[in-house]
Amino acid sequence: MLMKTIVRLYDHWYYGRPYAKFYKISYLCDCLPMQNINISLKSRNKLYELFVCTQEIQKQLGELNRRFVDLCANCEGKCCRHKSTDWYFTVIDYWLRKDGSYHIDKYSKLERRYWYQFISPKLIDFFRNSAIQNNNHLDYLEGKCEYIKEDGCNLAPQERPIKCLLHYCKILKDNMDYDFKKSHAKLVNELYNNSYGVFKILRKESGYSPLYGWIFLLLTK
Ligand code: SF4
Ligand code: SF4
Repeated sequence: MLMKTIVRLYDHWYYGRPYAKFYKISYLCDCLPMQNINISLKSRNKLYELFVCTQEIQKQLGELNRRFVDLCANCEGKCCRHKSTDWYFTVIDYWLRKDGSYHIDKYSKLERRYWYQFISPKLIDFFRNSAIQNNNHLDYLEGKCEYIKEDGCNLAPQERPIKCLLHYCKILKDNMDYDFKKSHAKLVNELYNNSYGVFKILRKESGYSPLYGWIFLLLTK
């Protein structure tokens, strides 16, 4: 009983909490008035450094996550069938990749619901183009991510939205031993910390106080 409680607290602290906080910083970034702002060169360079580091973390997580392929196949990718692609892709992904090494040159044909879908380049189309380059047939079906196929996600781990690599369901967590979980959770937390770095840059560029969102984040259980 005591052991179960300790495991639950560990999982909550190292997986549940970063995921919940990521939601909040995405929301806070979405609320910043970034549309008309030219980001300074210094901040762009910082964003690029975070982008490179995030790519590396995503790659490493992808390697570790290989052991979950059968579990996710048995579950038929339930968590990827929750909402359409643009729900998984956040404003943090957008700003991280905006000056990244990917060439993004098309506009989204999806319904534009968020402000970052109105400005070019569109990361949503980066995902779209990436799958086309991999010769994958794209079926856009409302209500599930278009990159989920019978053999799992069609995107390389470093191409996936951050949210996808921060989410670990109970099935996966129950299938990690302590040593694995320790190194895995460390990467998950680094991924969150990088996302928080993006939030701090955007907050500063918007001219908002360093206290913006502070209480909101502090109250995250
Ligand atoms: S992460 Fe969990 S919910 Fe999502 S597909 Fe894998 S086993 Fe299913
Ligand atoms: S991008 Fe991949 S991992 Fe993320 S929701 Fe879509 S299919 Fe799932």
